[in-house]
Amino acid sequence: MNVLFIGAPGSGKGTQSRELIEKFGFLQLSTGDLLRGAIKNKTELGLKAQGFMDAGKLVPDELMLGLVSDYLTTNKGKSIIFDGYPRTVVQAQSLGQLLESQGSKIDKVFYFKINPQILIDRLTGRRTCANCGEIYHIRTKPSSKGDKCEKCGGDLVHRKDDHADVISERLKQFEDNTGPTIEFYSKAGNMVNVDGDQAPEKVFNEIKKTLAL
Ligand code: AMP
Repeated sequence: MNVLFIGAPGSGKGTQSRELIEKFGFLQLSTGDLLRGAIKNKTELGLKAQGFMDAGKLVPDELMLGLVSDYLTTNKGKSIIFDGYPRTVVQAQSLGQLLESQGSKIDKVFYFKINPQILIDRLTGRRTCANCGEIYHIRTKPSSKGDKCEKCGGDLVHRKDDHADVISERLKQFEDNTGPTIEFYSKAGNMVNVDGDQAPEKVFNEIKKTLAL
């Protein structure tokens, strides 16, 4: 079963993905995580993507399509959560074609709706483990190990693009590009809205119920 999480940065997609992975064995295709990995490893893709990411802009579709196509070829037939991909209508159309060529499809789309004020607080307070990707928040979910990850001991970082100046550009990109993508899936008829302002446990229960897990 393939599910797609779509929503503004900070709307809770990553947190919910981690729950589905841990409890139900899904794989997660987080294009943001893959790109951050590519930057860390200084690959050709990482070098091309870094400037866009630091500025809060979207990485061009042609770079993203190659990355996703490779991932799907490697993980054919597995249950995948698409987190942060697709973000444009071009990406959505190409994902549909790629999955169809594998005899597969997106089974359910969850649109995480969230109040913009909550979102800015979540992003500016978010700390992410540079090693395993676990997500914390300085006020609502601090690590008991200070600036180290509770799970793996990795360093907790404030992502460059989670700083206030870049957040506004990311939100603009979301409105301009991902807005039409949401419209695309809404017309396709398999999208459900999730109230992302709720506590993560409540959101997770809704997702489980919808997927009959
Ligand atoms: P995220 O961790 O999903 O918030 O992504 C962080 C950044 O990676 C975004 O602000 C973009 O610069 C880039 N990125 C991630 N996914 C995509 C995508 N599907 N299309 C274009 N750029 C992306």
